Amino acid sequence: MADMLDTQLKRALAERIRYYNELGIYDFYRRDIAAASGSAVQDALIPENPIHPEQREEMTPRSKAAVAVPVLPEADFKGAIPKLESGVSDPSEALRLIREDLGDCTRCRLHKQGRKQIVFGVGNPKAELMFIGEAPGADEDQQGEPFVGRAGQLLNNMIKAMGLRREDIYIANIIKCRPPGNRTPERDECETCSPFLMRQISAIKPKAIVALGAVAAKTLLAINAPMSEFRGRWFDFRGTKLAVTYHPAFLLRDPRQKKETWKDLQMVMKELGMAIPAKGAE
Ligand code: URA
Repeated sequence: MADMLDTQLKRALAERIRYYNELGIYDFYRRDIAAASGSAVQDALIPENPIHPEQREEMTPRSKAAVAVPVLPEADFKGAIPKLESGVSDPSEALRLIREDLGDCTRCRLHKQGRKQIVFGVGNPKAELMFIGEAPGADEDQQGEPFVGRAGQLLNNMIKAMGLRREDIYIANIIKCRPPGNRTPERDECETCSPFLMRQISAIKPKAIVALGAVAAKTLLAINAPMSEFRGRWFDFRGTKLAVTYHPAFLLRDPRQKKETWKDLQMVMKELGMAIPAKGAE
């Protein structure tokens, strides 16, 4: 019996490791199973620095979160006063100046940790709606554009379900360089990089922002809360409405949550005065 359980447990562990590997997570640490509650498999194998912490949040109770997510005090954004682009009213030109200012950025360690290129942001400089994710992944690093991998395909479907095109909106991330192994961005990386995002937001002046996933939400709002407390309501982000929904990478793992995401997107569409199509994102 003990042997059988052992085999079952091994199989389950192998399965879970495969699952995390698929997400790009390769580093794990051991945890005292006796001290943990719930599923032995789940408790025994907590990924270190997973790609998208909201995946972990949704899979494990909040008290078991193993990695602290960076949260920036609001004051950190106050220094993000537009420089080159101040006084420039054309959003395209303002974005161009911000990009120029960013240059071949070496402000944080990520420039020497394998990033191929900076992923600035893409879309309509006059967009009414902005989506903000966490950090570029491998595909984005390769192509220099946010959300072009599998998660990006799903984001495209979400945008389409809203009756919009990718070129109607603007898409960016909290940080602009791929962290090694797709680990969670470090607090100082967010602090160094996010002022450029703040300047992009100021240039675009969207009517609404959608934060994709817990890292984007926690970083922008400086609130350390689970997704359940972020979703389904509006936040004020420096005078702009901000809503939070699941990260598309999480939805790839748990497609049942697409329904919930669709509710979030409908809330956004209502705010923007858009007609709500009958059918949601698939
Ligand atoms: N995940 C993100 O958070 N951003 C991207 O650009 C791609 C995947």
